[in-house]
Amino acid sequence: MNRDELLNTIVLLETQMNTLNKDFERLKKMTVELVEENVALTIERDHLQRVIQTQTKEEKKMKPLQSKENLAMLYREGFHICAGELFGKHREGSDCMFCLNILDNK
Ligand SMILES: [Zn+2]
Repeated sequence: MNRDELLNTIVLLETQMNTLNKDFERLKKMTVELVEENVALTIERDHLQRVIQTQTKEEKKMKPLQSKENLAMLYREGFHICAGELFGKHREGSDCMFCLNILDNK
């Protein structure tokens, strides 16, 4: 290898190192942006999950009100409408304080 060749090789290597350095900086910037976006999306997802959970809870709260007539009808037909194991079981002719309490509250 003569001196000219050696110098040319050094210059070429320097150019390649500069290119590599620029690529690395660009990649680092992209990684930071992706991590930031990931954090933002995680926060947004958690927020949406909370919104959905709140809506589901509200729908569950609404339903018993809407089905008040159905519960009253079931009770008139002789069935328990009180929460727990008795729900849907036949009252066998006797009134149930828990059932009546539910109907009074609605
Ligand atoms: Zn009952």
